[in-house]
Amino acid sequence: MAAALRSRCRGGGALLVTLLGPRRSYNSVFRAAELEVERSRSPKAKPEPRDLLFGRVFTDHMLTVEWAQGSGWGRPRICPFQELRLHPAASALHYAVELFEGMKAFRGADDKIRLFRPELNMERMGRSAERVCLPAFDGAELLECIRALVRLEQEWVPRSEHASLYIRPTFIGTEPSLGVAPPGRALLFVILCPVGPYFPGGHFSPVGLLADPSHVRAWPGGAGHCKLGGNYGPTIALQRAAQARGCQQVLWLHGPQRLLTEVGTMNLFVFWHREDGELELVTPPLDGLILPGVTRQSLLELAREWGEFEVREGPLPMGSVLGALAQGRLREMFGSGTACVVCPVGGILYGDKWHPVPTMEHGPELAQRFLQALSDIQYGRVPSEWAQPL
Ligand SMILES: *Cc1c(COP(=O)(O)O)cnc(C)c1O
Repeated sequence: MAAALRSRCRGGGALLVTLLGPRRSYNSVFRAAELEVERSRSPKAKPEPRDLLFGRVFTDHMLTVEWAQGSGWGRPRICPFQELRLHPAASALHYAVELFEGMKAFRGADDKIRLFRPELNMERMGRSAERVCLPAFDGAELLECIRALVRLEQEWVPRSEHASLYIRPTFIGTEPSLGVAPPGRALLFVILCPVGPYFPGGHFSPVGLLADPSHVRAWPGGAGHCKLGGNYGPTIALQRAAQARGCQQVLWLHGPQRLLTEVGTMNLFVFWHREDGELELVTPPLDGLILPGVTRQSLLELAREWGEFEVREGPLPMGSVLGALAQGRLREMFGSGTACVVCPVGGILYGDKWHPVPTMEHGPELAQRFLQALSDIQYGRVPSEWAQPL
């Protein structure tokens, strides 16, 4: 009888396996519903937003999710902020199998906390992961985990419409072997930093750019369109060289036409009168050299919605820009990114000659308007689907 029962159970098990498929041994996604939370027992004091230097102060908790080749994704965990333990051969350390994202949470005057178009960061993160053979994940689930983390850390979101909480999702290969190959292990984590105003006092300070065609940030067929750590380390020396020559940022040029591509870690916009007199906003196209910025996309969408001037994604050769400057047709040039929204350009050092750019002489009317429009949305002063309450 007992034997018969056992065999029936075994039979039933086999039937279940056929109905449900093989034993679920590989988790191809992680789920926010399975989030585990371990709270910190020693929360830190929160600094004044105006004293904050970017990326120096971190909150009390972090999010981590581990992945391994055979088993897939583990459970997402929120735990006290802590150092990582990595194998010295981890592929992130040797071959820059690493990517990151940058986004912000804003506290409005209504005390609600909002994220700005975070699904675009999740999509971009997925594309970066694919480029370095890090495993796929469900961006909506990661976003839900990030929301839970920010909710837990809500006291860290500054009570100021000139400050915010910077969110840094990071994804690294932790494969403990030196082969140059897709990692068999990986760690996704998210850390948070309160950040103060990019322009203290709210007054734009224009940046000077060093344009040296002997250096490139990205190249056709490369990975400049992905937010991979490996794209940034090698730029630091040039950033330092720019500073040594009295500039604040590098203007990245490309090719024989000396195409203007990006400014430091920002996308680039030029607002000018074309040769035919038409007023036009131009930014370089997403041709693989350009990081598809969420701010870039938002400024383009806003400008197209306003419909007051031409908006074009097209190449910006240095010759055309210098020509427009010489003829007084160039009104504004600015960078765009999550850190600053917009950052006006005051001049370009190119071929040992300083070319002043009259952005500030024109207000800058457009840069200011973009800043106002985006911060109105981010801080909930103007309702928009782009700003999602937590
Ligand atoms: C992150 C980044 C940007 C700006 O992207 P946002 O999504 O607007 O913050 C632009 N260029 C580079 C090279 C970047 O790394």
